[in-house]
Amino acid sequence: MGKLNTCSFCGRSEKDVPLLISGINGFICSDCVGAAQEIVNENIKHKSGFDVDANSLPKPAEIKDFLDKYVIGQDEAKKFLSVAVYNHYKRILQKKQDDEVEIEKSNIILVGSTGTGKTLLAKTIAKKINVPFTIVDATVLTEAGYVGEDIESILTRLLQVADYNVEAAERGIVFIDEIDKIARKGDNPSITRDVSGEGVQQGLLKLLEGSVVLVPPQGGRKHPDQKMIAVNTQNILFICGGAFDGIEKKIAARLNTRTVGYTAAQKSAEVDKNNMLQYVSPQDLKSFGLIPEIIGRLPILTYLKPLDRDALRKILTEPKNSIIRQYVKLFQMDNVELTFDDETLDFIVDKSIEYKLGARGLRSIVETIMMDAMFSTPSEKVDHLNITLAYAQEKIGKANLNRLKNE
Ligand code: ADP
Repeated sequence: MGKLNTCSFCGRSEKDVPLLISGINGFICSDCVGAAQEIVNENIKHKSGFDVDANSLPKPAEIKDFLDKYVIGQDEAKKFLSVAVYNHYKRILQKKQDDEVEIEKSNIILVGSTGTGKTLLAKTIAKKINVPFTIVDATVLTEAGYVGEDIESILTRLLQVADYNVEAAERGIVFIDEIDKIARKGDNPSITRDVSGEGVQQGLLKLLEGSVVLVPPQGGRKHPDQKMIAVNTQNILFICGGAFDGIEKKIAARLNTRTVGYTAAQKSAEVDKNNMLQYVSPQDLKSFGLIPEIIGRLPILTYLKPLDRDALRKILTEPKNSIIRQYVKLFQMDNVELTFDDETLDFIVDKSIEYKLGARGLRSIVETIMMDAMFSTPSEKVDHLNITLAYAQEKIGKANLNRLKNE
């Protein structure tokens, strides 16, 4: 009997392995192929994973340039975010070098009406950076013992994004949306127990100030049998966003009380009443119902501007993945060249303003106008479709835009 071939990696003979593959100078068995694949995966993950080095560090101006491609306006917020993210990276790098001067993290709070781009900014930053990033909604959080999710579940999402690599998650960024919804509702007499208010803020404080917390790996409620994962939040950057509806009144009240005296008339003339949020201060957040400790842990406070007609018009066409570009792409896939008359685009913006739908409404309006065409064009022999004002007016005339308000 001839000599049996053996695997050059594990040495087993071909009769002892499921399959032996031959190469030029040797053999490999199917078991070793599997093991080798695992090693490859492991190493590639480590390399392309969430690793930061001085060379890959995007400068603040570079981060802002990137944001400019997707988000219209909001320069102030972009600048603050770019610097904060850059510093976050630097802090991570510094940790590796074990320096003496420890850079503390600066969590951020973004104040701006709904639909002005807070989430979009956060999502766009996530595209640029190479650390785990997640967006969570503060409205689902409640104090332990009540219906809802435990505060620690915020970190579950981060762990999941980091593939349960705790070390990577501990350098991640978390965007907490609707932070204003956990403001203390002290002056609301109908609420007897402030389940989602101060208790949640106290819980959140623990995460913000940096401590080791036990995170339920599957999220939701802590379960007695569940194995918890310990996560240190010291280097996790938290970006909070909220609409803070009604905070303008608190800002105005503060500005007014300060302007007593003979300069009052002059000072109030300088206040731009259309954009009160630009004057927001930590004190206003306190008046709104955030506890001072939380505010102290969110040292960077910035705002988003309300979107005016000009901004809405730009949002429609300019961002890299603007709504119009998305529709053009959709039709292009059916070999149809889609164009819009300028006056049609102005009309879309006007309707969004008329029905107070903001930037979110733009998509619904375009969708309403394009629905019939999207239905019929793929089965028609056309290679060009131009949307005129008359066409848009006809489609919108038939639709009930009020229905879009609650979407
Ligand atoms: P927020 O989080 O402030 O409530 P979003 O970021 O979710 O608002 O914005 C809703 C939608 O409106 C986004 O998906 C985006 O299409 C559009 N949008 C809002 N603001 C801007 C902006 N400044 N630039 C570009 N698009 C915007």
